[in-house]
Amino acid sequence: MSFADLGLSDELLRAVGDTGYTEPTPIQASAIPPVLMMRDIIGIAQTGTGKTASFVLPMIDILAHGRSRARMPRSLILEPTRELAAQVAENFTTYGKYHKLSMALLIGGVQMGDQVKALEKGVDVLIATPGRLMDLFGRGKILLTGCSMLVIDEADRMLDMGFIPDIEEICTKLPATRQTLLFSATMPPPIKKLADRFLSNPKTIEVARPASTNVNITQWVVPVKGSSFEKRRVLRQLLAREDVRNAIIFCNRKTTVRELNKSLQQHGLASGEIHGDMDQPARLAELDKFKKGEVTILVASDVAARGLDIKGVSHVFNFDAPWHPDDYVHRIGRTGRAGATGVAYTLAAPDDLENIENIEKLTGQKIARLEALPGADAETDADAVEEERPRRGRERGQRRGARSEAPAEPIAAEPAVAAPRERPRRAARPARDERAERPAAEPRAAAPRQERYRERDEAPDDGGWNGPVPDFLRVTLTV
Ligand code: AMP
Repeated sequence: MSFADLGLSDELLRAVGDTGYTEPTPIQASAIPPVLMMRDIIGIAQTGTGKTASFVLPMIDILAHGRSRARMPRSLILEPTRELAAQVAENFTTYGKYHKLSMALLIGGVQMGDQVKALEKGVDVLIATPGRLMDLFGRGKILLTGCSMLVIDEADRMLDMGFIPDIEEICTKLPATRQTLLFSATMPPPIKKLADRFLSNPKTIEVARPASTNVNITQWVVPVKGSSFEKRRVLRQLLAREDVRNAIIFCNRKTTVRELNKSLQQHGLASGEIHGDMDQPARLAELDKFKKGEVTILVASDVAARGLDIKGVSHVFNFDAPWHPDDYVHRIGRTGRAGATGVAYTLAAPDDLENIENIEKLTGQKIARLEALPGADAETDADAVEEERPRRGRERGQRRGARSEAPAEPIAAEPAVAAPRERPRRAARPARDERAERPAAEPRAAAPRQERYRERDEAPDDGGWNGPVPDFLRVTLTV
């Protein structure tokens, strides 16, 4: 099937053609024709399936005719997070380039003035997070009575974030005759109830969950004996040994995001962070740097990273196994997207094991254990020297070798070392230079490790670890 079979206009087909996408994804193939026929839709699909275009494309054609009026948006898209809202807006820009539709983004964390001005002029598409929309509604700045299309995206995430009462209220303010599209990765009872109440004779479309069926993602659980110090060491080794071009590293807590990013930077890695405590411009700026390849590692919390549309992420690391098994599915969906291959590692300290069990129950898949790190034998006392070096570098107010030699080319893997290594380490390249089609690197067997580590004087943010020498790398590969 091609996009031309879906009933889209020539202008849209041209815009789709410009993106290089040749075939609709299953959710696009199933949803676009009924949406164009003005049906209500329940799309059981998550990010990574191409669901955004499945509503953005037909919306552009539906809204192509007609005029917007001041303060009366013609359509409304509700998104749980600012990042998702911004990505939907990007989709409208990409696919709507041959149309003359106006759009406004109503999200928290950015100045309200410009948003209100755009609304005053009248917009065809309003993309909003529920909180900001309710706020402006309360101030009398918006009328939803001219809104003939409503999209509720990531409904289960809205539920998790406590937005359902807001959404119910918003629904009551739209005309009853509108067209409503609801997307959700899962259909827990409150979402089912919401759909029953606010959708009319909907067509339900379900597409496979990427995590349970996506053969493009190689998944590993990496047992770690405990302590965040050990997790960081394992992580650095994985970042150095694997063919990591770019990576998102998920943590369960915002404090861990901050600490880990700081630690990675101290080790000379080109990393950035994104979490809920950052204001909107800072989050978008960090995301932009990652998209451009200026940083190749993004340390993220779940809410901040929800639905991030980043193509070609080669690796996802779960620094912590997520508390909610659904988040695992969302997290690893950042890699192996839309036909590309990817690798997902979950570091598993004893505290993480229960979460991993729950993930395996949800996905119905046992995740392979990587009982020894690939190339763990290559970690020598030279690394111990390296451990100390960033601290000294910091004291001098500078980064290590590779960074200062080539500042324009961020490198994600470990840079040059003090002593020769057994194998050269590979440097992660910015995403834009690379294709994502390369097969995932197979873990390599590690020889038993004989060297003794000496205790290291870690930076204060490393959690004050002062326990015995870590020996988790000595086990042999059994998978
Ligand atoms: P989404 O599920 O909407 O977050 O989209 C996931 C990713 O797939 C995004 O990077 C889209 O740009 C990309 N994508 C959307 N439609 C297609 C398509 N038909 N073919 C290939 N990639 C697509």
